[in-house]
Amino acid sequence: MRAQASIARRGWCPGVRRPMATGDGLLVRLQPFGGRLTAHQARLVAQAAHEHGNGHLDVTARGNLQIRGVKEETYPPLLALLDREGLAEPEGDGPNRLTVLSPLAGLDPLDRWDAPTLARDIETMAGAVEGLPAKVFVAVDGGGAMPLDPVGADLHLVATADNAVAFGAAAPGGLHWIGTASHARGPDAACAVLSGFAEMRRAGRTEARRLRDLEPDLVQALSERASLEPAAAPPPRPAAPRAGAMALNHGQAALLALPFGRCTAAQIAQAAAWSERFGHGEIRLSFTRGLLLPGIAEESMAPLLAEAHGAGFITDAQDPRLSLIACPGKPDCGSAWVPAPADAMRMAQSCESLLQQGVILHVSGCAKGCAHPGRADLTLVGRPDGRYDAVPGGSTRDAPLLHLSIDDLMTRLLPLKPADDLRLAFAGNPR
Ligand code: SF4
Repeated sequence: MRAQASIARRGWCPGVRRPMATGDGLLVRLQPFGGRLTAHQARLVAQAAHEHGNGHLDVTARGNLQIRGVKEETYPPLLALLDREGLAEPEGDGPNRLTVLSPLAGLDPLDRWDAPTLARDIETMAGAVEGLPAKVFVAVDGGGAMPLDPVGADLHLVATADNAVAFGAAAPGGLHWIGTASHARGPDAACAVLSGFAEMRRAGRTEARRLRDLEPDLVQALSERASLEPAAAPPPRPAAPRAGAMALNHGQAALLALPFGRCTAAQIAQAAAWSERFGHGEIRLSFTRGLLLPGIAEESMAPLLAEAHGAGFITDAQDPRLSLIACPGKPDCGSAWVPAPADAMRMAQSCESLLQQGVILHVSGCAKGCAHPGRADLTLVGRPDGRYDAVPGGSTRDAPLLHLSIDDLMTRLLPLKPADDLRLAFAGNPR
């Protein structure tokens, strides 16, 4: 059996059955439901990454897990192993995984509904919709402590205080709230939106592959098809914590963050061991690019966090690296123009106080913006000449204000204070 990494259809998403060729070999992406792995599964994936890949893995901004550096000859046994363990996606051309959940879903004292059950219903009902583009996905948000706003889903379902579900559709300027349904109608209404979108594509009414690219009148038509009631946007919530201890219905959870979401097979195996020693024997992959270990007793939290810190995890919510986002970059990605993670770490030295205040810096190896589809306080996009396009307050898709070398960038970042306006600091004619 040969790997199918050469398949490169538009809108295609890598998975276990369809690995993607990158600069360091094949990338195999696992998308377990809710980002959940048992300790046994996590240990098995770690062993597989060590034996069949280069021992490096990524936790993605959707809470998926990528095994890196797989060789053509080691891919077939890896596929067979993951398929046997139920970790391969279903066959077919649709989305590999239709829903994303908070890693706290089902355990969060602030949640207003049973988000995992709703997500399962949506997977069952909408998973069979013919012609749904592979990249489409739905954020199912129980309204708790980890809002899913940054994941960039096509459709966001958020539990509201009045026992309803608010529906947000992705739009160029952010989420557009298109209405509400009762909890009981949530899965039906979500399915109506998704099947309506697929139908519009089949009928030639749109060529959009993501809801954010759909014309406003068609979005309105989807809202009517789902019989959504008009409603205001749900009230804003504080952004999700990125590291440290978190309260649960019973006990606590430890959120262990990873710089840029990257880790080693040894770290995954170690987390599996901690989950058995201190918790429930479960690991949840977090969209904040970390591992959440639930069921930790209060007295076990400090020793666990101390061990995790020693093993290279970020355990302090004030760590400036949590405000840095970077894709694998050069040489790991064949499309990269710059070594994004190494440059990001260099730049962090020039703006540590900005990062500690929560200013988000996104360094992308190219304009695709895999690591972060949304806006950041400062987005830097690698260019073929090795310099960066600087986009303050925007995303990799927005027009840059300046083109700068990394040395020039560091010179501009060094004197900035948290209150400074980044747009002014990076104003100027593109060179
Ligand atoms: S953003 Fe570009 S360089 Fe970075 S991982 Fe994606 S394709 Fe590669």
